Amino acid sequence: MKIIMLGAPGAGKGTQAKMIADKYQVPHVSTGDIFRANIKNGTELGMEAKKYMDQGLLVPDELTVKILLDRVAQDDCKNGYVLDGFPRTIPQAEVLDKALTELGDKIDYAINVDVPDENIIKRMSGRRACLSCGATYHIEHIPPKKEGICDRCGSELVLRDDDKEETVKNRLDVYHKQTQPLIDFYTEKGVLKEVDGTRSMEEVFQAITEILG
Ligand code: AMP
Repeated sequence: MKIIMLGAPGAGKGTQAKMIADKYQVPHVSTGDIFRANIKNGTELGMEAKKYMDQGLLVPDELTVKILLDRVAQDDCKNGYVLDGFPRTIPQAEVLDKALTELGDKIDYAINVDVPDENIIKRMSGRRACLSCGATYHIEHIPPKKEGICDRCGSELVLRDDDKEETVKNRLDVYHKQTQPLIDFYTEKGVLKEVDGTRSMEEVFQAITEILG
C-alpha cells in the first residue's frame, strides 16, 4: 500500500503517518526527517537544506527528489510506504508518478488532512520535537511524560526553528502557493481522500482507517 499524506505544515499529518506506518506495517518516509538527520550529522546535503528550512522555504526539487527516490528504492519499501511531506510541489509529484509508472506501480491513496490556517498557527507554537530520535509532542495534545524531555530517548525537547511563528506564516504561504495544487493533481488521478483534521488525533486516525480498510 502506497500512501501520500497531504496537508498544511502542522495539520498533524506526521503523527497520522506514524500511526498508519505502525498499523499497516509499512515504513514512514519523511523528507523533513531525512533532512534533519543530515543537518544533525553535518552532511553537505544537510547544510544545503538548512539554508531553506530555517526560512520556511522548500528545499529545491532536484535535491529533494533524489533523496526520496533513493529512499523508496530501498528493500523495506517494496510492499509500500507512507510518504509524509513529499511531494510538496507539482514537479515532485510528476517525478514520483513517472518513477512509479516505469515500475508498473502507482500511489493508492493521497490523504488530505484538512485544517484551517488559524488552527495551524495555534497548534504549531505548542509543538516540541526531539532532535535526537525525531519524536514529536505537543504541550497540550501529546505532552511528554516529563516536561521538556523525550519519552523515547530522554533527550531535551525543543521548539524547532521552523515551528516558530514567523516561519510558520511563511510555511503556510508556501503551502498555499506550491503544495495545495497537489489536491487537484491527486483528485484527477482518482486517489484523493479528505479527512477533517480539526478533530482529535484518534478521530482523525479512525477516519483514515475507514478509508484504508
Ligand atoms: P516537515 O518536517 O515535513 O515539515 O519539513 C520541514 C522542512 O523541510 C520544510 O519546511 C522544507 O523546508 C523541507 N522539506 C521537507 N520535505 C520537503 C519537500 N518534499 N520539498 C521541499 N522541501 C521539503
